[in-house]
Amino acid sequence: MTLYDAFNRPLENLRISVTDRCNFRCSYCMPAHKFPQGYRFIASADLLTFAEITRLARIFNHLGVHKIRLTGGEPLVRPHIEQLVGMLSRIDGIREIAMTTNGYLLPQKAKLLREQGLTRLNISLDSLDEAIFRQMNGGHAEVSDVLKGIEAAERAGFSSLKINTVVQRGVNDHTLVDLALYFRERGHIIRFIEFMDTGTLNGWKYDHVLLTDELIQQIECVIPLEPLPAQHYGEVVRRYRYADGTGELGFITSVSNPFCGGCNRLRLSAEGKIYTCLFARKGVDLRDLLRSGASDDTIIERITQTWQQRADRYSEERSSGQRTEKVEMYHMGG
Ligand code: SAM
Ligand code: SF4
Ligand code: SF4
Repeated sequence: MTLYDAFNRPLENLRISVTDRCNFRCSYCMPAHKFPQGYRFIASADLLTFAEITRLARIFNHLGVHKIRLTGGEPLVRPHIEQLVGMLSRIDGIREIAMTTNGYLLPQKAKLLREQGLTRLNISLDSLDEAIFRQMNGGHAEVSDVLKGIEAAERAGFSSLKINTVVQRGVNDHTLVDLALYFRERGHIIRFIEFMDTGTLNGWKYDHVLLTDELIQQIECVIPLEPLPAQHYGEVVRRYRYADGTGELGFITSVSNPFCGGCNRLRLSAEGKIYTCLFARKGVDLRDLLRSGASDDTIIERITQTWQQRADRYSEERSSGQRTEKVEMYHMGG
C-alpha cells in the first residue's frame, strides 16, 4: 500500500534520527556558542529504544516505505548502533538501510555496520583545507580524522561512497574544486549541498548561499560537466558526470531550485515524533502511542492522518529572512 499527501506525493522514504547528540559543532547546524558544555539533550529514557524503532520501521514498511536512512545528530555516537542496523535489516521489505555520518567514528564502526547489513554510507566533509574544516566543525576534528573514516568504510566493503559537502559563500567556496577532484580520483560521488535555513540557530542569510549554478561554473573552468537524467521519482539531487567519463557528482539545490514537488520523505526524531518537512515547526508524537500499549492499527491511523494532511512546500515558499519557530535539524534528523 502507498500513502499520498495533499499534493499527491507518496510516502516512500523514512529518515530515522537515533540521537540529537553530536561529537562535532558545525557552525551551520549546532554552532558551538549555542551548545555549551552541559546543554540538555534528549534524556536517554526519552529516546526511542531499538525495539521501538524497529516496530515503527515494520509499520512504515507496511505503509510503503522501503528505504531507511539513519541520521541524527551523529548516528555513530548512539551506543551499539550496529545492533539497530541488524534489527532493521531483518525486516523483509526494507531494501536499503543507509546512514549519514560525519565519519569520525567509522574506524571503530564501519566493519560492524557492514556486517549487520548497512547498504550505503554518506560521509560529510566540507573542505580539505585544515583551517576551514576546523572552523566549520567547531574545532572538533581534523581532515585526516574524516579521511581515516572514509578509508575504514572502503576497507569494510562500502563501494561508491557519497560525500556530503555544505557550501557556504565566503567560507569554503574557494576550496570546493579541490574537494571535487580529490573524490573523483577516488571514485566517490561528492554532493554539494546549498547552505539551508534549517532551524533558527545557524544565522542563515541568503547572502551566505553560493548558488549551484555559480559552483558549476567554477568546476567547469577546470573540468567540463554533463547533466545526467533523474534516476527515480523524488530524486533530490541534480546529477552530473565529468565529461571525460571519470565519475559523477551532484548538487542539492534546496535554495536555488527547490524540489518539494517530489518530496517523499518523512522524518522520525530520536524521541519518537514524526515530521513531514525539514523546516517543520512541530512534529506528531508516536512515542505516547508506543508506550501506552497502542495497537499497530492505532499507530497506522496516526501516521496515515499525518501524511494525508501534509501540504508542506517550505523551500518553494522560502522568503529571504529566517523564519522563527522551526525545529532544529540535529533534533529532528538531517
Ligand atoms: N551528523 C551527521 C553528518 O553530519 O553527516 C548526520 C546528520 S547532519 C544533520 C546531515 C547532513 O546535513 C550533513 O551532511 C550536514 O552537512 C547537512 N547539514 C547540516 N546543516 C545543514 C544546513 N544548514 N544546510 C545544509 N546542509 C546541512
Ligand atoms: Fe553534527 Fe552532523 Fe550537525 Fe555537524 S552537521 S553538528 S556533524 S549533526
Ligand atoms: Fe520536502 Fe520540506 Fe524540503 Fe520541500 S522543504 S523538499 S517539503 S523537506
